[in-house]
Amino acid sequence: MSEAAPRRLRQLGEISVGQLRLVGAKRLEALASLGIETVFDLLTVYPRRYIDRTRRAELADLSVGEEAAIFATVTANSSRRTRQGKSMVEVLVSDGDEAMKIAFFNQPWRGAQLAPGIQAIFFGKVSDFRGQRQMANPVVDIIVGPSGEERDASRVGFIVPIYPASGKAGLTSWEMGGFIEQSLRRAGPLLDPVPQEVLDELGLVSRTDSFWGIHLPSTMEYIIEARRRLVFDEFLRLQLLLALRRRRLVATAAGVQHPIADDDLSVSPGALVNPDSRLVRQFLAGHRFTLTGAQQRVLGEIAADLRSPLPMHRLLQGDVGSGKTVVALTALLAAIDGGRQGALMAPTEVLAEQHVASIRRDLEGLVVRDEAVLGGVRPLRIQLLTGRIKGKERTSALAALADGGIDIVIGTHALLTDDVRFAALGIVVIDEQHRFGVEQRAQLRDKGRAHSLEGRDPDLLVMTATPIPRTAAMVVFGDLDRSVLDELPRGRQAIATSWARTAQAEQAAWQRVREEVAAGKRAYVICPLVEGSEKIEASSAVEERTRLATQELRGLSVGLLHGQMKSGEKDAVMDEFRRGEIQVLVATVVIEVGVDVPEATVIVIEDAWRFGLAQLHQLRGRVGRGHDPSYCVLLGEPSTPDGATRLEALVSSSDGFALAEIDLDLRGEGTLLGSRQRGQSDLRLANLRRDESTLQQARSVALSLVELDGLASRPDLVDELKLFVDEEEADYLFKS
Ligand code: ADP
Ligand code: MG
Repeated sequence: MSEAAPRRLRQLGEISVGQLRLVGAKRLEALASLGIETVFDLLTVYPRRYIDRTRRAELADLSVGEEAAIFATVTANSSRRTRQGKSMVEVLVSDGDEAMKIAFFNQPWRGAQLAPGIQAIFFGKVSDFRGQRQMANPVVDIIVGPSGEERDASRVGFIVPIYPASGKAGLTSWEMGGFIEQSLRRAGPLLDPVPQEVLDELGLVSRTDSFWGIHLPSTMEYIIEARRRLVFDEFLRLQLLLALRRRRLVATAAGVQHPIADDDLSVSPGALVNPDSRLVRQFLAGHRFTLTGAQQRVLGEIAADLRSPLPMHRLLQGDVGSGKTVVALTALLAAIDGGRQGALMAPTEVLAEQHVASIRRDLEGLVVRDEAVLGGVRPLRIQLLTGRIKGKERTSALAALADGGIDIVIGTHALLTDDVRFAALGIVVIDEQHRFGVEQRAQLRDKGRAHSLEGRDPDLLVMTATPIPRTAAMVVFGDLDRSVLDELPRGRQAIATSWARTAQAEQAAWQRVREEVAAGKRAYVICPLVEGSEKIEASSAVEERTRLATQELRGLSVGLLHGQMKSGEKDAVMDEFRRGEIQVLVATVVIEVGVDVPEATVIVIEDAWRFGLAQLHQLRGRVGRGHDPSYCVLLGEPSTPDGATRLEALVSSSDGFALAEIDLDLRGEGTLLGSRQRGQSDLRLANLRRDESTLQQARSVALSLVELDGLASRPDLVDELKLFVDEEEADYLFKS
């Protein structure tokens, strides 16, 4: 590494850690096992904590059971053998005020290593030994030698960073810190790609200072500033990628302007219509209910997108039961009003079929203009298209899609497979697909255009009932516009949720099931989640059904639904349940999303703590869909404190967004983000809860930089982003 121009991060990403002093084959391998291959990787391994050597009360603060790193001076040591014949070295350490014993077993050399006078960091768990605090076999980093010479004077500041690698892979925190410091020194000043005005305005420190400040801070206060800048950069890169992607979509768009008037959205049931009225108006005027304020607002947002020549790219978020379907139908009808077709994709075939049945009911009686038929009008046609539609039926469905004889097609995301052609696909609605990543969404648009003979981009509406906190949404759905249904239809019954912790309470739960069934209602029983094995999960559901049918629920008609059943079997069971021939449905988590049986009023969830909070909320949403009071009973004794917190949260709140925030706190963002989305793996320091305001700032900076000229005048930023995307994507995003 030479001391020339300020260095770019991408250059550091091209330098192997093997080039560092003291990194030989063995260290190289150890670092690689931690995923550290380049100097950039190394610099983004951040300290897990810091020890402030200016603070003297370390030892006094420690409590038993705590994992801690203490900085202390050895005052005495002795070696002996335990009764079992193990070697034991006992070291007495002091931080000036307090003393503590540290024991090393089977490490006889510690006696010579840890001579009195040595100052070191001891990292381990504090235990209780005969009423006294002690540590056994901690990780040791020697900082100051026995005669007072510092191990590396230049490196021993008052604040000592502790790196996560300690103990693992045979790399101590001290070594890690050494490599990092060496990298920083040899790299010299780092190029700052963020415009100085932005840094000034937001009060952010320079890039060089941020890396030095996080790794080699001179004060604890400075760490906060350094961290804030690094977090800003992580968010900025991610938001730039999202904004660029969006800009690309817009630049290459060939969208459709759908005819939809605000006038037609504000009609109430019973409003006047005539045969010339648009379908949207006829539908809303003839519907069972008046839209909620939230539904009207959201439809206004969607209508503006639909009218615009740019394809809609919108996320509709609404809690379970908030009424997303009617919004989706209105949007689909707007496309049909313009002479085009719509596609609705559900996550499973069962849900697709359920949608077909209920949507046919909802749209009954509507007619569309069609020159090809006698009289010029025909009934609006809705077609199911899943893997189960085969042979002649499929052939004729495909033909009708290609010549425009089908208006709405409903299926799974396999809908846009090779053999499906639309005459003119105007809109795609994706229901309950929060697991779709940003790339899949982009792909979908390309496919939509490719499969439409008209060759235009369909508008896209993604719907999800999984409440995602606003910050997380900015990261996960940052490429989409967002609408939120934040109001439930009136008259909705709250779902009384309880956690049955005693045998008595559990019996009461089964009694509740019997009572509801006796009153003509239906019940779900959800079997425990078996992580990683759908087979075991299914067989335990089979057993549970038998048990319940012969014991607690004897005499009732108890059905079974699990993931290993064929889709035909599943549908048959769902139909029987809907009709009431099955009164109690024992199911695995396959019913998590969307299943809608208004007569179901009780759901019993076994071993509830095994489920995530969002999932529990979804499951609970299977009941309370009609007009009758509904119940959710949670069973099981959690084996983790988090499990108990989840159940308590569910009992005390029915607000999906509040629960999502709690979930984010409990699980961290990792589970939400996964590694699916580019740039997200870059979020190492950032914490969505804690750093919300920094995220907002980064997002608005990213949007304005990209809006200006697509980063054409910011080659340094473009260069840096290349660290996080592959070549193909870089070509796509950065070509001018
Ligand atoms: P989700 O958002 O969970 O998909 P749905 O669209 O399935 O919700 O709606 C849930 C239930 O609420 C359905 O039975 C639907 O008919 C009813 N519903 C939706 N909107 C309204 C409204 N504005 N007034 C009364 N009932 C409504
Ligand atoms: Mg729904």
